[in-house]
Amino acid sequence: MTDHDDCFICSGLDRAVARSEDGRAVVMPFRDPFFEGHVVVTPSRHLDTVDVDPATWAAIGSLVPDAVKGLVGDGVEKCYLLALGDVDTGHLHFHVVPKNDGDESLGQYVFGSEGWNAKRLG
Ligand SMILES: [Zn+2]
Repeated sequence: MTDHDDCFICSGLDRAVARSEDGRAVVMPFRDPFFEGHVVVTPSRHLDTVDVDPATWAAIGSLVPDAVKGLVGDGVEKCYLLALGDVDTGHLHFHVVPKNDGDESLGQYVFGSEGWNAKRLG
């Protein structure tokens, strides 16, 4: 049983591969990875961004560097860190996505094919 049975993050928490010392946050493989090694860092209970307490933010922050370092190896050009949250049930999660040499850039999917400046306000 999870906090929210309709939440894909809550329903996948049993697949966590790392946990913060206080248990407030976990690292788990993403269900539909962009590239090999794609993980998410997330609170271990259902929390929307506006409801995250300082201790849980700290727990998330304690896991992100290790998640990034764990993915960087031979052939990894960079790691993307994304928090979009527009198609889920509101459970905060950060995607940590390795980009291997030769993988397609993901920037065009976030900022559009014309890049960041094309989306500026004003
Ligand atoms: Zn959830």
